Amino acid sequence: MADKVVKTDDEWRQLLTPEQFHVLREKGTERAFSGAFWSSHDDAMYLCAACGNALFSSETKFDSGSGWPSFTEPAAAGAVTTEADRSHGMVRTEVTCSRCGGHLGHVFEDGPGENGLRFCINSAAIKPVPPPK
Ligand code: FE
Repeated sequence: MADKVVKTDDEWRQLLTPEQFHVLREKGTERAFSGAFWSSHDDAMYLCAACGNALFSSETKFDSGSGWPSFTEPAAAGAVTTEADRSHGMVRTEVTCSRCGGHLGHVFEDGPGENGLRFCINSAAIKPVPPPK
């Protein structure tokens, strides 16, 4: 893990679109089926849209039917951090970028893989490399 990235809200606003800022820095959630990558099948590494940390590989991406990009595991151990989230009257597990602390989405225990995990991630929080054609 490279050094942490720490910026003020004003600095993040300069770097991010309003929707990226809302999701990553204000823990927002894009509407289901509204994001750019929920149905993408391109071979790519999905980086944090804020800091460029490699978060998820398309090799672990699957069709969850949720309308958000869904992955069975992070690209590397430690790429993301999880924490209990009791907001909005629910008990969920939040997923953040380990480098910049940006909110990515949540992880649920109903995934199709051996580890049983489903990382439900906002398109606005990630950017694929190579970029979509
Ligand atoms: Fe990040």
